[in-house]
Amino acid sequence: MFNLIIFGPPGAGKGTQSAMLIEKYGLTHLSTGDVFRANIKGETELGVLAKSYMDKGELVPDSVTIAMVEDFVKSHEAKGFIFDGFPRTLSQGEALDEILTKFGTQINVVLALEVDEDELVKRLLERGKSSGRVDDQDETIIRNRFKEYNDKTEPLLAFYEKQNKANRVFGMGEIDEIFGRLCEAIDAKLNS
Ligand code: ADP
Repeated sequence: MFNLIIFGPPGAGKGTQSAMLIEKYGLTHLSTGDVFRANIKGETELGVLAKSYMDKGELVPDSVTIAMVEDFVKSHEAKGFIFDGFPRTLSQGEALDEILTKFGTQINVVLALEVDEDELVKRLLERGKSSGRVDDQDETIIRNRFKEYNDKTEPLLAFYEKQNKANRVFGMGEIDEIFGRLCEAIDAKLNS
């Protein structure tokens, strides 16, 4: 199996790039944000709980998120996973290692998209006009998501840097150009 994490602040383009990576490398996509939104739509118990955090731009508690990811990994036959929006805290990162170890596999590469904060705010407010996402329509909520990212998620990159798995990728420019940079990092790992 070849498993990767796509990492980056809200609006960095993780979803867009994931779709292209899945196509090219035949990976199975797990976007925790998408799974939460599907649960909100389906009005499940998990959805009601997740919504109370997401609408404020806060992270959903680790225990809930980790259980959901373990369930997903267990129930999908995959050549490899692309984790998008997970892990977002150090304890989620440690839990993911444990989950993958149980399945005899591991994270191979971490791609960290880097984009200026002002550009991110612009992208998210633009996306909010058509996505209907509450968390994309209000600059205070967007700023809170950045704060969550900077406080809880950014430090996780050091965890992957220590394992020599992190690749910082410049996330500004044309979509195809950024995709090329990501593929380069993946192919270097695949061929090593
Ligand atoms: P973005 O990366 O643009 O913020 P996502 O769809 O990945 O969009 O996440 C939206 C929201 O879903 C987050 O602000 C958070 O509330 C919740 N969420 C998604 N993934 C996680 C996670 N791994 N841990 C906790 N909360 C999460």
